[in-house]
Amino acid sequence: MPSKYQAPRGTFDVLPADARLRQRVERTAVEILARAGYERIATPAFEDTELFERGVGRSTDIVRKEMFTFEDKGGRSITLRPEGTAPICRAYVEHGMHKLAQPVKLCYVGPFFRHERPQAGRYRQFHQIGIEAIGTDSPLADAEAIMLLADLLAELGVPGVQLRLGSLGSPRARSAYLEELRAHLRANEAELSKDVRARLEINPLRAFDADDAGTRDVMASAPTLVDRLEGEDAAHFAEVRQLLEAAGVVYEIDPTLVRGLDYYTRTIFSFVCDELGAQSEVGGGGRYDGLIEQLGGPPTPAIGWAVGIERILLALGETGSAPERDAFLAVADPGQRQRALALAAELRRAGLSAELDLAGRGLKGQLKHADRIGARRVLILEADGSAQLRDMASGEQRTVDAAAIVEAIGGEAR
Ligand code: AMP
Repeated sequence: MPSKYQAPRGTFDVLPADARLRQRVERTAVEILARAGYERIATPAFEDTELFERGVGRSTDIVRKEMFTFEDKGGRSITLRPEGTAPICRAYVEHGMHKLAQPVKLCYVGPFFRHERPQAGRYRQFHQIGIEAIGTDSPLADAEAIMLLADLLAELGVPGVQLRLGSLGSPRARSAYLEELRAHLRANEAELSKDVRARLEINPLRAFDADDAGTRDVMASAPTLVDRLEGEDAAHFAEVRQLLEAAGVVYEIDPTLVRGLDYYTRTIFSFVCDELGAQSEVGGGGRYDGLIEQLGGPPTPAIGWAVGIERILLALGETGSAPERDAFLAVADPGQRQRALALAAELRRAGLSAELDLAGRGLKGQLKHADRIGARRVLILEADGSAQLRDMASGEQRTVDAAAIVEAIGGEAR
């Protein structure tokens, strides 16, 4: 029966079969990151709106159009977090983490919220796994962060992944370049889309992201930032590239790579995946050397990335897997129910998964139910106290010693 109520537009329910897949992705990620010294952090699902306005940048699409912002009962402006970096930098400053051994390496998993037009791979509530390495400007940190994301995607088996790499330089180099780019855009203003023209002064870089033919033509001959890098910016980028090459990481330089957040400096990167269609990015990130200071902390260079869990699942193309139960406890006689309950508890304490009939079914009904829920074997408790162990795949059945049931099931489960 269709329900009158549905999950809000652009959101979805995670049902058990999907939850199992997600759990595998999250566990794999957290394990890989823990081996590299990244520890879990969790920040609130909402923050003061100003944090994102200052952190992500007032001219970005995220802040201009995509935030779920509301007033709380005290008249404060609150925003559901659209991304994880600004909140973590807020926490770094708030908790004086600059006093800890640097860099502070943090990872997170959780929901994020953006009021975007929903489509495959683009939702209003989505989930990210991300890392931040705060307190180092070493190119080694950039290379390591990129390699961790590459390893994670490889370990999960995400097919057709490509790495795109770019550098935005330092703010000074960037502003000189932006002037040059604006001049190019102004000279070709008539051919640009209305949107690009409207933001020509505040955010000319976004013109590289436009999909209309006119703007694309103009951008084909635009100067690029990677060709304008100088001094320490150029040396930093060269070293990141050399480290990646030495580690055998394949990448492509993308001079038009722009990320939709203002805080990036120097290295930026994006992992795209053939399987993903229009929303082709599975994850990405970059360096944000000015953000902590901008949020009131000491000057602190940092780098991070985020990967979308839904995009990973889409790229893997897997549908939910069936659960596995070590045993289902069936009773041939209702008088055995109490024993089934006690045995189920005993099996669970021994680390095995066990379920029992909770609906008062007859034996035939219990066996059918056990099959439906994916139990690999059924223990049938007979009225006389004896027990039969039935393998559901082969249908074979054998008597087991009633005093050694846990050992019998445990032995087979291993
Ligand atoms: P960003 O925070 O914009 O750099 O995005 C990082 C990653 O989060 C992207 O590569 C996507 O995998 C994922 N992502 C961003 N926005 C969405 C969205 N609206 N729906 C699903 N995944 C998203």
